[in-house]
Amino acid sequence: NAPVITIDGPSGAGKGAIAYRLAQHFGWPLLDSGAIYRVLGLAAERAGLSPAEVEPLVELATHLPLTFVADDASGEVVANLDGQPVGDLIRTDEAGARASQYASIPEVRAALLQRQRDFQVAPGLVADGRDMGTIVFPRAEVKIFLTASAETRANRRFKQLKEKGISASLCALLESIKARDERDRTRSVAPLVPAEGAFVVDSSTLSIDEVFSQVVEYTKK
Ligand code: C5P
Repeated sequence: NAPVITIDGPSGAGKGAIAYRLAQHFGWPLLDSGAIYRVLGLAAERAGLSPAEVEPLVELATHLPLTFVADDASGEVVANLDGQPVGDLIRTDEAGARASQYASIPEVRAALLQRQRDFQVAPGLVADGRDMGTIVFPRAEVKIFLTASAETRANRRFKQLKEKGISASLCALLESIKARDERDRTRSVAPLVPAEGAFVVDSSTLSIDEVFSQVVEYTKK
């Protein structure tokens, strides 16, 4: 089987950036599993399916017309739903919150499992998510758990929003991050915990460069 590097952790810890740089470093594709849950959330909303409608949701997840396509201009990989790019639609906070609602349904997670495992092809894969090392790729060679304090993550989000000209309350952001953490850690299916043997990095006081060099050093071992 092709080698896999898994990167799990809460949102705002810097997983996306590190996963992207690792993928570039090794020349391997990147699986952004969060995007799959976000696209499912969008498709479910369009189909008018509430999280309670498990059977049709499983049907939708099983046949989700989702593809990842490299954008000609930027080279960036974007998610397509029904052949249409949905990049911006799935990147909002609402889309993230919606994704996490559907992601807490065990049957939905099961329906998306094989789709994620299919990304494991030569020469290798960098997989970014919450349960990459614990459930999707339990036999991965290298497992990273990237975390940061809730305060740090709230501050990062606050700055991001400010740059986009969106006003937000730091206090409210911190509260919602803490609530999301609690939900993710204690949910019955795929709780957010480090995989056994994972290399745990706390990025609270580290720059992206520092995190990246620690992680690359670790992959050499
Ligand atoms: O990582 P991202 O913020 O894009 O993920 C969106 C949501 O999808 C997360 O809040 C989480 O609830 C869910 N998710 C998950 N398992 C994954 C990736 C994402 O449950 N492997």
